[in-house]
Amino acid sequence: MTNSYDVIVIGAGPAGYVGAIRCAQLGMRVAVIDEYRRKDGEPSLGGTCLNVGCIPSKALLDSSEHYHRVQSQLGQHGIKVDGVSLDVPQMIKRKDKVVADLTGGIKQLFKANDIEWLQGHGKLLADRQVAFKPHKGKEKTLSADNIILATGSRPIEIGAAPLTGDRIVSSTGAQEFQEVPKRLGVIGAGVIGLEMGSVWNRLGSKVVLLEAQDSFLTPVDQQVAREAKKLFAKQGLEIRQGCRVTETRDGKNISVHYEDKDGKQHMQVDRLVVSVGRRPNTDGLASEDADLLTDERGFVHVNDYCETNIPGVYAVGDVVRGPMLAHKGSEEGVMVAERMAGHAGHVNYDTIPWVIYTDPEIAWVGRTEAQLKAAGIPHRSGTFGFGATGRARAMDQSDGMVKIIAHAETDRILGVHMVGPQTSELIAEATLAMEYEASAEDLARTIHAHPTLSEAVHEAALAVDKRAIHKAN
Ligand code: FAD
Ligand code: NAD
Repeated sequence: MTNSYDVIVIGAGPAGYVGAIRCAQLGMRVAVIDEYRRKDGEPSLGGTCLNVGCIPSKALLDSSEHYHRVQSQLGQHGIKVDGVSLDVPQMIKRKDKVVADLTGGIKQLFKANDIEWLQGHGKLLADRQVAFKPHKGKEKTLSADNIILATGSRPIEIGAAPLTGDRIVSSTGAQEFQEVPKRLGVIGAGVIGLEMGSVWNRLGSKVVLLEAQDSFLTPVDQQVAREAKKLFAKQGLEIRQGCRVTETRDGKNISVHYEDKDGKQHMQVDRLVVSVGRRPNTDGLASEDADLLTDERGFVHVNDYCETNIPGVYAVGDVVRGPMLAHKGSEEGVMVAERMAGHAGHVNYDTIPWVIYTDPEIAWVGRTEAQLKAAGIPHRSGTFGFGATGRARAMDQSDGMVKIIAHAETDRILGVHMVGPQTSELIAEATLAMEYEASAEDLARTIHAHPTLSEAVHEAALAVDKRAIHKAN
């Protein structure tokens, strides 16, 4: 092992490992330091996303959706299934296998790209040096021409509900229950709360989410959020808003005490998930004399090109401003690698798609109607319900809608918001359209195959100009 590299990356999540691969593709000699270890103690690449985030949560969402469909939806298709039973440990085992396969895949990619994987803790020192403390062995000092900080984030903890490891848990623990809790409480009705709440609700838990804010899904276009909330209520997800949790007591049951507009309340649950946001992993990330600038919330301070205040030191992913999304971090990793190599990498922060993997899925790109109003930008919008598309009807998944917002004068698409079946896939068309600075008319003139769900996108684009075909405009 050498002590000197072209690039050292600290953190092997989707921001760090993708950046590392792009650096290697561009001919750089790269080492990646990562400290993550699985529950069996084995080091594993992929960070939060692959180990305890995007991938395992989607594996459980898919498994629980199969169970739910067999239980309550196949009958309508004329398929009778008797004696359905649930094997939660097998569901968790399958999820673990998906994770192991994918993280193993990154290990192979590192080998193929000649990237050195250093298992242990990294700390930025002055003069582009890094202290590397391996899981086994003595600390070493490494140096590099460029350093990428990609240390990600971790769950925010709150004093009113301290985590206990197995009963009061973060999103990680919520993916490890070995049986279905009869009653599941969730603090925070954001992305994780809704995804984890959906998993256990489908498997049979009575799920209650306590949300601090009076509004629901604040970052989402409120027309879509309202529609989604109605659909979640039909599924039995109970969302209580304006709740301030004051105390939890973990005895035979977990007692959750909170206050809402009607005063003091409390509820008893068997398991409690705390999902109130995440914070950047920057505690002790840099020595004092490295002089790394962070903001008041602990995020590493960067410019639009992810350059920190230290020349040659970059930061990407959850550890910097912007949405905490895997694909945002990966694009930043690629941008930084390309700029190091003298290319013109850049990230278009205006066209980062979001998806919440509930059923139906919520997906959006660009600005909401409220944001456009606040910015005084003249706009007009078109909506179209999936219920009027043949494909959604044939699938028996006709809940939800697509909304397209375009500039009132130029017709340029400013935001696309969806709730409905497979919108996680449909949003790609909208993202591409926005990346190409398309107008609603461009989408309206694009031929969409029939019968597909994408016809709802087409019709919403037509509806911007009040000429949707399968709807009274
Ligand atoms: P991380 O993935 O957090 O990786 C950082 C890595 O750095 C970790 O391995 C950590 O152990 C390591 N590390 C930290 N400090 C050090 C150090 N000092 N030395 C060495 N190693 C260190 N995003 C999506 O886009 N889609 C989704 O569907 C989605 N689902 C999610 C579901 C859940 C339950 C959670 C929790 C998150 C989800 N996210 C999702 C968010 C996504 O996981 C993050 O945005 C993404 O992982 C951030 O990538 P990153 O590379 O910046 O950091
Ligand atoms: P979040 O910001 O999405 O939601 C947190 C919710 O908790 C908010 O609605 C907030 O108002 C509420 N809250 C905050 N403090 C509270 C309190 N004390 N009591 C009750 N409610 C409180 O955060 P999250 O759900 O923890 O997820 C963290 C991040 O991880 C997400 O913002 C997202 O960036 C990422 N993530 C993405 C996906 C995806 O892309 N599908 C999935 C999971 C996580």
